[in-house]
Amino acid sequence: MDHESKIFIEALEEKNLEKLKKVSKADLHNHFSLGGNRSFIKEMTGIDIQPFKGIMHSMEEMHNWVNQYQGDKFNSLEMRQLMIDATVVQAVRDGVKILEIGEDVWALDTYFHSDIHLLIDSFKQSQRKYGNEIELRLQIGLSRHCKISALEKWLEPFWDENDFYSIDLYGIEDAQPIENFKNIYRKAKSKGLILKAHVGEWGTAEDVRNAVEILELDEVQHGINAQKSKEVVHYLRDHKIRLNITPTSNIILGRAKNYATHPIRDLYHAGIDVTINSDDVLIFDSDVSKEYLRLYESGSLTVEELDEIRINGLKRRLLK
Ligand SMILES: [Zn+2]
Repeated sequence: MDHESKIFIEALEEKNLEKLKKVSKADLHNHFSLGGNRSFIKEMTGIDIQPFKGIMHSMEEMHNWVNQYQGDKFNSLEMRQLMIDATVVQAVRDGVKILEIGEDVWALDTYFHSDIHLLIDSFKQSQRKYGNEIELRLQIGLSRHCKISALEKWLEPFWDENDFYSIDLYGIEDAQPIENFKNIYRKAKSKGLILKAHVGEWGTAEDVRNAVEILELDEVQHGINAQKSKEVVHYLRDHKIRLNITPTSNIILGRAKNYATHPIRDLYHAGIDVTINSDDVLIFDSDVSKEYLRLYESGSLTVEELDEIRINGLKRRLLK
């Protein structure tokens, strides 16, 4: 067993969060505008962002939270940069060594003066300043409710840049059929991007399989409802599809009842490539280290199993 695994297992058994934070982890499911470090944001801006307490009963509660703590306070290039800085700082303090984040395509015109290099450099600058030891995987983000023609137009400047690692689709899962995004994903594939989408958080196991088939996904953000269908579980396992899972987010949004019965346990035992991630640290109080500890404390997964998942997240995806 290597040194980091030893420390990781000790830290879990001792329920020692500070020790856990020193061990390398990946965060492959992180929305940076909600992924920042709370105390860093407070120190830099005086804005005190408190996590949501309890369980949300509708998406409206999520929007209310965002309005209360962020509103339009972060709607400028300077503040956008600060949120990227805060997310890199958060990752460093959490022991995250691979961080996958990116902007929504509409933000290029809104915050980055339609200058794709300014957008890319903003992320690289945060990394240089605060997180040189981190592998930053830059992602292109699409919101599912946006018109395809608008997305295609916004995407134009992104296609010819070599700095992007992946593309992700998020937002309201039933906003429009997954088929609508097929052409965009074909193009993303031709550009060598890793293909991801949020699916199976609100949608069904069938929705997960459809999205993987139609968009030719490499990874699914959430995908937890796949657990409800043995066929889909086998399909994901056989096609080596990675699920980037965020337990606390799932529980607060009512997508899973608790940590002990969270689908990650069954998905892991079925041989699926799963990873453990933060989603939105500022709302859910979901540091990656805390996610591991909460799953361990619930009895969902053993220290050895959690360590295997941790190491798996740090590896490249399995070749298909
Ligand atoms: Zn997400």
